[in-house]
Amino acid sequence: MIARDRLHELMAREVADFAARNPLSEKAFGAAEHLFGRVPMTWMNKRAGAFPLYLDSARGARVTDIDGHTYRDFALGDTAAMAGHSPRATVEAVQRRFAELGGATAMLPTEDAEWVGAELTRRFGVSRWSFSLTATDANRWAIRIVRAVTGRPKILVNSYCYHGSVDESLIVTTPDGEGAAREGNVGAPCDVTLTSRVAEFNDLEGLERQLAHGDVAAVLMEPALTNIGIVLPEPGYLEGVRELTRRYGTLLINDETHTFSVGPGGATKAWGLDPDLLVIGKAIGGGIPAGAYAMSAELADRTLRRDDLDLVDMGGVGGTMAGNALSVAAMRATLESVLTDDAFTHMIDLATTYTAGIRATIERHDLPWSVTQLGARSEYRFSATPPRNGTESHEVHDEELDDYLHLFLANRGILLTPFHNMALMSPETTADDVQAHLDLFGEAVATLAG
Ligand code: PMP
Repeated sequence: MIARDRLHELMAREVADFAARNPLSEKAFGAAEHLFGRVPMTWMNKRAGAFPLYLDSARGARVTDIDGHTYRDFALGDTAAMAGHSPRATVEAVQRRFAELGGATAMLPTEDAEWVGAELTRRFGVSRWSFSLTATDANRWAIRIVRAVTGRPKILVNSYCYHGSVDESLIVTTPDGEGAAREGNVGAPCDVTLTSRVAEFNDLEGLERQLAHGDVAAVLMEPALTNIGIVLPEPGYLEGVRELTRRYGTLLINDETHTFSVGPGGATKAWGLDPDLLVIGKAIGGGIPAGAYAMSAELADRTLRRDDLDLVDMGGVGGTMAGNALSVAAMRATLESVLTDDAFTHMIDLATTYTAGIRATIERHDLPWSVTQLGARSEYRFSATPPRNGTESHEVHDEELDDYLHLFLANRGILLTPFHNMALMSPETTADDVQAHLDLFGEAVATLAG
């Protein structure tokens, strides 16, 4: 076990080193008086040191801060940069569209969009696509569609899921198996149990109990949880979800925004899943804002036949800049030339090496920790066996340990995603990057173990 006194002492040392190493970031943060919380977006205050690192530049799997330190980046913008920072093919496509041709905000379709729709269909198997600029919006619009076509009011999600700032998803299970608002929800529009139901991941009985009410339009889920640590589906679980949703007339939405790490067609393709709708965002734009949702042809036709639904103006679906020519050009280049089948093979190989290395360190020190791989991403958790659901994973969260490991690594040139101990591989991540991380992780653990 980790002695807390020792952890606090080591942490104080890392906090001091972080401040000493990064005077320009500290100064920039101190000067940011006109920003809410001193940062451009409040999440940037999720950090282990006293201030965030300020970005200077980034390319591939490297980030350089304004104090001149270059990091091996395993955070990759919490998946938004899974294609690597500013991949060349995407940069060229964006440059061509924005600088040479112009017209990012013309609100007219480009032929690239059909190419992207066809490629996403080939990869994920769901066939009618519409674009957004974020995965959050893609989820919101998918939710509106499923409510409209089923006439049912509620969305079911897994406890401790994350699908963006989607009101319906901020619900957790209570000990009696029902739902309650997730702690910290900022300004909920109404009691979340009016709009949502919730079940634990890997719990088919709990799911069936909720679906049996007959008021659930859709289950919105990640095929593996990724936002409360990684929680993998147990054998038969995803098949059970599909069977139950069909039995109770509920649609199934796979949110592949993070599980895209499983392969070129996400978990949906790799695991042979058959959702009615699919959502994706972040990485597909190669760094340019892009998101998408898709539905089956049958569902699309059914929706389009409804003349009471305003899909072309202010009916609640779509946005002024969604599907814009720049975003679509970026998706095309990223899918065509960056996040290719070969790239995934490389990324997944690296994550496999990474995971084996972490496991070896955990075993060497006999720590009650576990590590879980999900294609090109891998994450360790402070429990001896991998958590089976969101609540279990939430319960083993250890902020002090997280912060210490993040800061230890950052002070030595490695970035992990700030929200948890997740490492993601990009096409430009190297075996040397992985080894550098493993060496430092081993050193951090040895230091902790005393
Ligand atoms: N879905 C999933 C599974 C996510 O992990 C996230 C973000 N972490 C989102 C949706 C929302 O993405 P965005 O913040 O880009 O809207």
